[in-house]
Amino acid sequence: MHLLGKRTKIVATVGPASDNPETIRALVGAGVNVFRINFSHSSPDAARATVDRIRDARDELGMPVAVMADIKGPAVRMYGYAQKLPLAAGDTLVIESRPAEGIESLASPEPKRVYTNLPDIDALCAIGQRVLLMDGNISGEVVEKAAGCVTVRIGNAEELRPKAHLTIPNVDYPIPFLSDKDIQDITFAVENEVEYIALSFVRNATDIEEVRRLVQRTKIPSGPRAGRHPVVKLIAKIESAKGLAASEEIGNAADGIMVARGDMGVEIDIQAVPIAQKKLIRSGLLAAKPVITATQMLESMIEAPIPTRAEASDVANACFDSTSAVMLSGETAIGRFPVKVVETMRDIIKAVEAEFDYEAFHANTPEHARTGELAAVVSYSALSIAYEVAAAGIVVLTETGHAAQLMSRLRPKMPIFAFMRDATVYHQLAMNWGVCPFLFEELSEAVPEPAGGARKGMDALVATILGRCKGEGVLKRGDVVVVVAGLPLLRKGTTNMIRVETVG
Ligand code: PGA
Ligand code: MN
Repeated sequence: MHLLGKRTKIVATVGPASDNPETIRALVGAGVNVFRINFSHSSPDAARATVDRIRDARDELGMPVAVMADIKGPAVRMYGYAQKLPLAAGDTLVIESRPAEGIESLASPEPKRVYTNLPDIDALCAIGQRVLLMDGNISGEVVEKAAGCVTVRIGNAEELRPKAHLTIPNVDYPIPFLSDKDIQDITFAVENEVEYIALSFVRNATDIEEVRRLVQRTKIPSGPRAGRHPVVKLIAKIESAKGLAASEEIGNAADGIMVARGDMGVEIDIQAVPIAQKKLIRSGLLAAKPVITATQMLESMIEAPIPTRAEASDVANACFDSTSAVMLSGETAIGRFPVKVVETMRDIIKAVEAEFDYEAFHANTPEHARTGELAAVVSYSALSIAYEVAAAGIVVLTETGHAAQLMSRLRPKMPIFAFMRDATVYHQLAMNWGVCPFLFEELSEAVPEPAGGARKGMDALVATILGRCKGEGVLKRGDVVVVVAGLPLLRKGTTNMIRVETVG
């Protein structure tokens, strides 16, 4: 039940098509591990009920499921029109800069005049500059400029959706990383103890550090952790030329990354996107941090009950690239078949995972994942033993989740049963490839501290854990397992112990 027969995780965006208790439960049953709430289309008031629905579903089902708040960030969009705006080739459209505050409620008096939150647009564009509207679906060229606005000649007929993206390729947008709305949304996310915050259009490590400071300043207002600081993880969405150029420092500063192919495909040349995807997945893998591959994975299933062959291959290839998770956006948020699309994705993942050569992957593990940090050496050796003894699973005792991430990085064939005492870590690990988290609050009492009594404590602890695995049906009598832990227990960064056990 816990891994649902797959190792690669699924992130699904909640929206009108899925934001009800029945569908959320059905999505978890079909294989969703993480729900994304997209704050480009949501607010704290609307999101509160969604967070509660997801929590209720995961409690009811007894499953680890993470909530990811996706923050709008410095997106450049067009406003001032409430309905789709039909544009014909040759039309001229005036785009006018307006302050971001309140821009969403403005109504333009002229049909072919729209507003943007990008300030001083005329200063950023030369005559002849190419601009892209609605994620590149409409192209245009600046033909006239005036103070605070530009006139664009439209190249192709298309309907412009409300709040569509505006892209001026290769231009740095002079807007702050976080708007007032973003700060409110992040504060909401922290106060409501979501497990992940995704940050759109990250440009450098400083952007991540700014959010970390904001998170650290916010305390949990109520509930069992009231007054404590949140342990939310930050996912950097790489979706611009700038973000891509700085992806190394961003990857170091963040807790994970998203290959945000939607905006990336407009901001950089489309042919560079697949290569960026492979490089970003590789770098996240080496850093033992989760990487989400996102956008248009099964896009045609917004309308159709089956995907295109190209989409099926895209999901499969992301898995072969070793992505940690694959993401659904409109497919589950506004699509006609939210549950079916998750089942389709799950089946594609399973087919890849049945083919993948895990032992070869382990044999080719890069040097730094095998040596250096003690925990990395122990994880690598534990997996070598696991293959030697044909282990049915690897048990990892983890305080912060790090030990489980180090094991996940090695992409083992057998499931990683991660035991921890912290509920946030439990739900966070739903994101990580191959990790099957178990909340084990008894861990706090089970082990006599300090380390003097740890040996005896450890025997009892392992017996309890294996009993639990058996009880939950993930291990059976006679199965061999490799157990990895850090002694003394309950400290972070101490992974130093390997035991081989047979389930009795
Ligand atoms: P978005 O991000 O769906 O929030 O725009 C993902 C992407 O751009 O691919
Ligand atoms: Mn985006």
